[in-house]
Amino acid sequence: MNRTFILRIYRGSPGKQYWEEFELLLKPFLNVIAALMEIQKKPLNRNQESVAPVAYEAGCLEEVCGSCTMLVNGRPRQACTTLIEPLLKASGSNIIVLAPMTKFPLVRDLYVNRDRMFDHLKQVHAWIDAEDSYDRGFGPRIAPKDQQTMYVLSTCMTCGCCIEACPQVNADSPFIGAAPISQVRLFNLHPVGQLNAEERTRALMQEGGVSECGNAQNCVAVCPKEIPLTESIAEMGRAVSKQMIKDLFKNKDDL
Ligand code: SF4
Repeated sequence: MNRTFILRIYRGSPGKQYWEEFELLLKPFLNVIAALMEIQKKPLNRNQESVAPVAYEAGCLEEVCGSCTMLVNGRPRQACTTLIEPLLKASGSNIIVLAPMTKFPLVRDLYVNRDRMFDHLKQVHAWIDAEDSYDRGFGPRIAPKDQQTMYVLSTCMTCGCCIEACPQVNADSPFIGAAPISQVRLFNLHPVGQLNAEERTRALMQEGGVSECGNAQNCVAVCPKEIPLTESIAEMGRAVSKQMIKDLFKNKDDL
């Protein structure tokens, strides 16, 4: 006999959210995004009422773009790589609960606006400046140890899981969160990126910067790319202290 399961979804627009359930056929290797696509094809809720299709964001469908991040059974993760069957097994329930992330402005249903993350990347100069597009041959050599560190940092997909899980990110706090701090570490490690290292480090000295981290370590526990975020925060905390001392002596010399 065909087995079914229930998707219980917290949907609606800001200030008008409600729970709605959908009953779906369990297929092998079905993931959350594919289940949402099934609802889109035929948006009938569990009471067989015709409803608006559930809104969600998705892009690459292979855990690279980060856009399909949502709360699945209360945990922030990517809907594209969350398989239904193991999740039902692990919870011992026939119901999977989906909700939008809470630390980002809600657009509709499971779709939130993650602009704050991209704004913070701009704030910390999370890129390397290139003056032109001429081929200048090979760039400076990077030690294999640094390459390894940089590679894992570069896998950040601005998904928002670390921001969602962080207790320091809330309506009363301007904390930028772990992801942009880790990106400062990445670009400051790069030999060309080092030209703007002070600018990036100073951005972390501003309100909402690295000193607002409360060391809860939730970020590193939820990062789907297993980025050593607490290590990045500690590293950048040291860089900020060094920069402050440097600035202090510089200001003294200027007197
Ligand atoms: Fe997502 Fe990890 Fe990047 Fe945070 S650091 S945005 S959890 S990939």
